[in-house]
Parts: sequence; C-alpha cells; structure tokens
Amino acid sequence: MNKIKMINPIVEIDGDEMTRVIWAGIKEELLKPFIELNTEYYDLGLKNRDLTNDQVTIDSAFATKKHKVAVKCATITPNAQRVKEYELKEMWKSPNGTIRAILDGTVFRKPIVVKGIKPFVRTWKKPITIARHAYGDIYKDVELIANGPGEAFLSFQNTDGKEEKVMVHKFKDKGVLLGMHNLDSSIESFARSCFNYALEAKEDLWFGTKDTISKKYDHHFKDLFQEIFDNEYKSKFSDAGIEYFYTLIDDIVARIIRSQGGMIWACKNYDGDVMSDMVASAFGSLAMMTSVLVSPEGYYEYEAAHGTVTKHYYQHLKGIKTSTNSMATIFAWSGALRKRGQIDNNFELVNFADKLEKTAIETIEEGLMTKDLGLMSTLDNVKILDTFEFLKAIRKNLEK
Ligand code: NAP
Ligand code: MG
Repeated sequence: MNKIKMINPIVEIDGDEMTRVIWAGIKEELLKPFIELNTEYYDLGLKNRDLTNDQVTIDSAFATKKHKVAVKCATITPNAQRVKEYELKEMWKSPNGTIRAILDGTVFRKPIVVKGIKPFVRTWKKPITIARHAYGDIYKDVELIANGPGEAFLSFQNTDGKEEKVMVHKFKDKGVLLGMHNLDSSIESFARSCFNYALEAKEDLWFGTKDTISKKYDHHFKDLFQEIFDNEYKSKFSDAGIEYFYTLIDDIVARIIRSQGGMIWACKNYDGDVMSDMVASAFGSLAMMTSVLVSPEGYYEYEAAHGTVTKHYYQHLKGIKTSTNSMATIFAWSGALRKRGQIDNNFELVNFADKLEKTAIETIEEGLMTKDLGLMSTLDNVKILDTFEFLKAIRKNLEK
C-alpha cells in the first residue's frame, strides 16, 4: 500500500504519563502504517522541560507560529508534589498557559458523540461546542483582603496624567476585594475567532454575558462582538445560513438545556472554564472532549481536553493493564492532520483524517470500547478492551 505523503510538517508536542504512552501507541498503530508522518518534534515531557529550563515549551509555541498547525499531548502542570517527584529545578508554569500567552486566541471544546453513549440531557442530539476566551478576567486578577473598616477605590490613571476614580465600597468591617481587566484587542480577536469558527463549522454562534448587572465590563464584550459582527460578518453569516445570537447568560443556560445542540456557545474565560466541564460531563465523559486553540492569526493547536491520567499511568508502570480511552487524543491528531491537509490542499490527508475519526467512532458503535465508556454504554454487545487492544481494534477496522 502506498503511504500518504505530507507536504509540510505539523508541530508534534509530546507530553507526560499515560497520554505519552497512548501518544506513541497512536503513532505506531494508526498513523505510521498509513502516512509518511512529517512532524517537527518537541518533547514537553516534564523531565525535558526541566532540562531546558522550559525553553522547549516556548520553542514549541514559536514552531506553531511558523508551521501553523500543532498537535499537543497532555502535560503535567507541576505543583509542589511534582517538584519533589521529578526533582525539578523550579515549579515550571503550565505549558498550556505559556503556549496560549504566545499564540493568543480562543479554545474551542467539542464532545465526540457516539451511539450508545447517551447525553444526560435527553434533548441533546448534536454536539455543543464551547468557545472559551483564553485571556484575562479572574485569571489575571489582583485580590486584597480588606482588613477592617476603610474605603476601597478603583482608579485609572491615563499616561497623560488624567485620573478616573470610583468608590468600590466603604467597609464598616472586614471584607474582600478583587480587581480584574481585559483588553479590547483580546476581546476583538476572541470575537473574530468565534465568527470564523462558526462559518467554518456552519453552526450558529450564541454568546451570553451578565451585561444587565455588569453594565460596563460585560456590556463592553457584548458591544465589541456586535460591532465586529455588523461590520465584518453579517452578510457572510446570512450567505452561510447561520445566525449570531446574543442574550443574557442565564437565558443561554436555560436554552442550551432545552436545545438539540449543534451550536457554538461563546463564553467569557471563567464561564467557559466551568461550562466546558459541565457540557463534557453531560455528554458522557471528559475522555471524549476534543480541544483546539485557534489564534487570531490562524494558527491551530489541537489537543485532548483531559489530563495525563496519572492514576492509570502508575498502574501501567506496575505492569497492570489499564483501559485508558484514547479517543480525544486520536481526534487531536486527526484534527491537526485535517487542518494541515486543508492548508496544503492535500486532499488525501484530509480524507485520511475523516476516515480515522469515522472508523474510531464506528469501532465504539460496534461495541468495542474502553472501560470508562463501557460502564455507560446502552449497547447490548459491549466488550471492554484495554488501552492497546482498543487501538488495535481501530487499526483493524481502518485497514478494512
Ligand atoms: P485527568 O488526567 O484528566 O484524569 C482524571 C480522571 O479522569 C482519571 O483518573 C480518570 O478516572 C478519568 N480520565 C481522564 N481521562 C481519561 C481517559 N482518557 N480515559 C479514561 N479515563 C480518563 O486529570 P487529573 O488526574 O486531575 O490530572 C493529571 C495530570 O494532568 C495533572 O498533573 C495535571 O497537571 C495534568 N493536566 C493536564 C492538562 C493538559 O495538558 N491539557 C489538562 C488537565 C490536567 P479514573 O481514574 O476513575 O479511571
Ligand atoms: Mg475547568
């Protein structure tokens, strides 16, 4: 059989623990037999991040800017316990945080829907994609404990010396304070990423904030979205037969629960953090959630939404078989290969990515799946496979 050739490389960002094990398995079983895999490899395994003083993480982000498409394995974000475990020089920052800060953009999370795994919400028929703004708000806030009676102010000093000042609160006793910000440039690129993604997916875009209460902060998000939509996207949306729809976030939550799915839900940073876990769990499993970071300049980084599955890794190290679900990581690879193919006009590669996804889904729908899904499936012929048996089952179907 002739292997599919790749014109340009994708940036391959390897990671940690059980997902690193799966990573190698996916390449061996599902990619290398069919493609002449062309990647530029960056090892973000925690040991190598430590060895390079985290330079490898920065290099991988700049490589993504150069080649436009990356696929990333889950990585450990070190805490005190990991610093000891890996004898780290420092408590290195979250790689995803570092990469996001360099690429900017929006994270889109979409569940993989298969027959036999019923969403907990009865009406949901199609996947719901969460578009999470990846900059600012409480993730870049400053906080204070108000230590007794006193006055708190919010002030802005323009570089030309003008000051605007409002009282936050006159404390009669102890309390707490928080200051946060966002940037027009970041909100605008969030908006454009969402509008572009909706056009590509041909799905409606919903956006909600709490603008009735937050009359300046949240209202500003609403206004910038509307302005960009009216000036740049209105006719493109009507040509594509899709809709942009803004309403209060409470209203969105109520509508989402009653909907059939099939839309993109744009969320501010915190809302997206919380709602993507809700949507993933309600669709069945975190192991079935895909994730892509889309930068305003058109760089794409694909990954699974789950972590490195530490508990399974320690079992694996002891020689105990695990049943770790590789679907989200497979879809990270197929997403990156499809995007590479689209950019390079390499239709064979696009076609392969489609087939890989279809085959992986059909394998589960045949009853062959890992334990996490097996416990939930409504199919009556479920066979629970271990980590490697599942990859081999997909390979067998792919060869067919
Ligand atoms: P996790 O790796 O997502 O796993 C949490 C639990 O969810 C697992 O113990 C397992 O449950 C289940 N699970 C997750 N993915 C699964 C899969 N593919 N197949 C089967 N079950 C799966 O989260 P964590 O244990 O909180 O974090 C572990 C490490 O991952 C941390 O060091 C964290 O820093 C890192 N992390 C990285 C990323 C990223 O790189 N994007 C994201 C999140 C976390 P059972 O044990 O019950 O089977
Ligand atoms: Mg979260």
